[in-house]
Amino acid sequence: MSKASTHKDNETSNPAAPAPNFLRNQINADLAAGTYSRVGLPNVITRFPPEPNGYLHIGHAKSICTNFGLARDYAGRCHMRFDDTNPEKEEQEYVDTILDSVRWLGFDWKQADGEHLHFASDYFDQLYAMAEYLISAGHAYVDSQSAADMASNRGDFSKPGVNSPFRERSPAESLDLFRRMKAGEFKDGEHIVRAKIDMASPNMNLRDPAIYRIRHAHHHRTGDKWCIYPMYDYTHPLSDAIENITHSICTLEFQDHRPFYDWVIARCAEGGFFQQPVPHQYEFARLNLTYIVTSKRKLRQLVEEKIVEGWDDPRMPTLVGMRRRGYTPEAIQLMCERTGVTKSDGWIDYSVLEGCLREDLDPKAPRATAVLRPLKLIIDNFPEGETVECSSPVHPHHPERGNRTFPISKEVWIEADDFMEEPSKGYFRLYPGNKVRLRYGYVVECTGCEKDAEGKVIAVHCNYFADSKSGTEGSANYKVKGNIHWVSVAQALSAEVRLFDRLFTDPNPDSGGKDFKQFLNPQSKETVTAYLEIGMTAANPGEVFQFERHGYFVADAVESVAGKPVFNRVVTLKDSWAAA
Ligand code: ATP
Ligand code: MG
Repeated sequence: MSKASTHKDNETSNPAAPAPNFLRNQINADLAAGTYSRVGLPNVITRFPPEPNGYLHIGHAKSICTNFGLARDYAGRCHMRFDDTNPEKEEQEYVDTILDSVRWLGFDWKQADGEHLHFASDYFDQLYAMAEYLISAGHAYVDSQSAADMASNRGDFSKPGVNSPFRERSPAESLDLFRRMKAGEFKDGEHIVRAKIDMASPNMNLRDPAIYRIRHAHHHRTGDKWCIYPMYDYTHPLSDAIENITHSICTLEFQDHRPFYDWVIARCAEGGFFQQPVPHQYEFARLNLTYIVTSKRKLRQLVEEKIVEGWDDPRMPTLVGMRRRGYTPEAIQLMCERTGVTKSDGWIDYSVLEGCLREDLDPKAPRATAVLRPLKLIIDNFPEGETVECSSPVHPHHPERGNRTFPISKEVWIEADDFMEEPSKGYFRLYPGNKVRLRYGYVVECTGCEKDAEGKVIAVHCNYFADSKSGTEGSANYKVKGNIHWVSVAQALSAEVRLFDRLFTDPNPDSGGKDFKQFLNPQSKETVTAYLEIGMTAANPGEVFQFERHGYFVADAVESVAGKPVFNRVVTLKDSWAAA
């Protein structure tokens, strides 16, 4: 990506138009040509191939939605495959969280024709056999140069590489060494197996790339069975071919790897390991969202330096974090669909995702009342000790979902900024002499306020009109401009509410060599003690509500306890970051 900019892709401005997706065009062409008509196999087989070395993030969601989505739309199948060729960095813990996140996003590797959960490590025997074949056929050799010599003999973009002195070793000698590598006779780095292609190729990936290396390391699945491990660039294409993948979809940075992808599959097909048609690799532009970072290294830094509270901190762009934040799989899927699949890198504004969230949550989320910055309002003429039941729809557009009820009494909490002793121009909420409606309750007229020694307003006074209750005949006689929300003091649920905001203040915090940690938003998390309508006591962890006038909030799935929910703000009602 050359220059970071923020723009909404054209396709995102018209949600009704189908987003461009060159992969669909490719698949349509392959279907028309019958490219992948094979007995007993679908015409479209894709895969999602993470390395189990970290938590999935929103970028991976793009890949998941693309691969599983195409398989779904073309009645094909998508394999869940772990590319686990790096014994040192991989762990079962990551396998578990990745599977959990894929399922949460709404996809499944258990499909009509069986379960398609695979591990590249399951193919180690086959990959080994193919390497023996490549060596025997003269397509690979054991190189015994030092790592330093190998690096300097590789050349660079302007200088061709130099052949290894071991390049012309006989296949028999290489094969013998390879078998002894496998038997554990050598130390890490003593020998390496390389494909024999072209040390002068302008494509560095074709300068005799390594295919097997010695690593005396424990693997999370194969244990201590192996002390040699296949390289990723060798394993990946062959795993695709073993699994009969048709469209192998990856991000643009792998474009330069495609010639080797094709080379290694073609050589092994010549050796009888695969039949035509073999998989083909297609590269698409990765998802870049503004205001976040997705590099695993940088995300790890945020966790390890305790800038956030863990991988599942609700501010993290990890799927575990977004899930805790109250983001929905449907909103993420919608964003992935709407932003299309293209071949040129660009930035998607974070507001596109937030827009998808609002679109998904608005029709679903039950409404509730929350006072986030409470100020006491005393209704002086309301009978002491009395409560009156008020009611409002669970959802304004879904009367069939019924009503919720909550009491009003002499003292209620209102938002501190719904009162001004001296109103600014155009302010039509509470100020002395003005009338407002307490939403779903009564019309009240402000009579004044109480202040502490510093002059801070600590309570507001008013009188109510007993015949003004919402939903009664008398209410029509009252015309007021302001309509404010409130919660009865005696029947309020006091709850911790976290007001999350973007983690970074810069739209491209890590582009152009910038230090992303300089752009941390100091206001990314604010915790308040709020008063909620009493029904919120029963909120289930993970349940999302619209707190009227404030936005969408989820009962935190980790820290809520029965009867005492903690809420996370998912997203505000409006985009507060929109360019002025
Ligand atoms: P990162 O480099 O960000 O840590 P990765 O590519 O190393 O991610 P993998 O586990 O190898 O992580 O990724 C699994 C799949 O997800 C790959 O096919 C990769 O191309 C894809 N992927 C990763 N990031 C993005 C992104 N931002 N947009 C689209 N696809 C992505
Ligand atoms: Mg990768």
